[in-house]
Amino acid sequence: MAENIDVVVIGAGPAGYPAAIRAAQNGLSVVCVDSWKNRDGAGALGGTCLNAGCIPSKALLESTELLHRAQGEFAAHGIKLGSIALDLAVMQKRRASIVRNMTGGIGSLFKAAGVTAIFGHGKLLADRHVQVTGHDGSRREFAAGNVVLASGSIPTELPALPFDHERIVDSWDALEFTAVPGKLCVVGAGVIGLELGSVWRRLGAEVVVLEALDRFLAIADQQLATEAARQFKKQGLDIRLGARVTGATSADGKVSVSYTDKSGAQTLSVDKVIVAVGRRPYTADLLAPDSGVRIDERGFIQVDAQCRTGVERVWAVGDCVRGPMLAHKGKEEGVAVADQIAGRYAHVNYDVIPSVIYTAPEIAWVGRTEEQLKSAGIAYKSGVFPFAASGRARAMEAAAGFTKILAASDTDTILGVHIIGPMAGELIAEATLAMEFQASAEDLQRTIHAHPTLAEGLHEAALAVDKRAIDSINR
Ligand code: FAD
Ligand code: NAD
Repeated sequence: MAENIDVVVIGAGPAGYPAAIRAAQNGLSVVCVDSWKNRDGAGALGGTCLNAGCIPSKALLESTELLHRAQGEFAAHGIKLGSIALDLAVMQKRRASIVRNMTGGIGSLFKAAGVTAIFGHGKLLADRHVQVTGHDGSRREFAAGNVVLASGSIPTELPALPFDHERIVDSWDALEFTAVPGKLCVVGAGVIGLELGSVWRRLGAEVVVLEALDRFLAIADQQLATEAARQFKKQGLDIRLGARVTGATSADGKVSVSYTDKSGAQTLSVDKVIVAVGRRPYTADLLAPDSGVRIDERGFIQVDAQCRTGVERVWAVGDCVRGPMLAHKGKEEGVAVADQIAGRYAHVNYDVIPSVIYTAPEIAWVGRTEEQLKSAGIAYKSGVFPFAASGRARAMEAAAGFTKILAASDTDTILGVHIIGPMAGELIAEATLAMEFQASAEDLQRTIHAHPTLAEGLHEAALAVDKRAIDSINR
């Protein structure tokens, strides 16, 4: 007999768990089922982001950046340290404990909100019935008023470089190395490649990044990408563009990676290879043939702008649907769907989703790049303020990079903000809020920013849009 329930959410990642909590806040009965298993076989909430993505990667980025600064920067502050040593086991223990704390926290949030969590596999049958197979083998079936599919994504595997999870690894494996590889190859100079490449470089690995495209960070504003490439080169990341991997062979504890570039066939001998060439939607055994939900040619669950699948009261959110694969995009969709289910107003503004790469310097942007504005034929003004002119950035010994604002020539509306520099990921929040409220560059010009702060860069960049910057030369 199927159990009646208002909402079943399949997946407790950053798209699914907020949907479950908001649905419960809206007074609905909610079950959230998640199939995640950690290395020890135990179930955990939080999906990729908390278990193997955003959180563990940021824990390691923070630890390794501290080490790097202690080694290279403290002396400039007049701080003399004795010998500095890495204890990778402690660093990894800290990462694991942060993850445990955060994933356990979702369990507490569920309890407080009244969401029933089930560790197991969920499958959508016809007529909004959901079959749940628990990790313990138990079977339940729910007759749901609404179903939210939030099954997420998994790493893309290259046929030429199949994962063996020992030498040729995915991003999850690469977060859990127990020793620093002497020489590391990262395939893909995208977000994961740059973040994890930075982690292991800071810990002493020699890192070669192979990127198939001829252009570095093609998704970012190219002025930002050029500055980023310069900074990463200084840090010793060997980024090779136009490099197409053709195969790999493992022998004697080494991997020999073959690739071609404009000079012809190349080989590279390394200890480990991290393949980070993107992620693909995960929908394995999620949908019964008569569920009615459709998958597109790239494997995404088909949805409209409101995340409706086309099957009445079946919704899909997060990485398993179109749009950027970002935790905050999934969260916004999950919450919006839960509000729509309860008959409340909700919408997701897909034009104003910030992106952050947590390298040092950080890279962050929102809205459109200069290249996108040019190809769309939109007339714009640009204002740039370098962190070299920021007293706070100088005091932080972090004066590389800049803030750039693009505003419409006619209306002055802010169209894009691009930051490379210290705390760019935090600073972009002000730009995101400004764009959400359709602010003009003048609005930012007239907003008082505390001195001395990094955020003054936004103020000065807004002034520079009209060649009225005070603290840098207007060009
Ligand atoms: P997921 O987090 O993948 O969660 C889906 C969940 O559904 C999983 O737990 C899965 O086990 C479960 N599931 C799947 N199928 C079923 C089923 N049939 N039954 C039951 N359960 C099922 N994004 C950011 O915004 N910021 C970052 O800093 C960031 N860093 C990242 C770093 C790394 C190394 C990686 C890999 C990703 C990172 N991301 C980051 C991306 C982010 O993790 C994803 O965008 C986000 O996790 C997507 O959320 P989701 O809920 O859609 O899917
Ligand atoms: P990505 O799309 O960011 O980068 C993949 C890179 O690999 C691209 O530059 C692509 O050109 C390159 N590539 C593709 N095929 C290749 C090949 N055969 N050889 C060499 N290079 C190749 O993907 P990712 O870095 O794997 O990250 C996956 C997703 O996770 C992204 O969508 C990202 O948004 C998300 N993520 C976000 C964050 C963050 O927000 N800070 C961090 C990590 C991951």
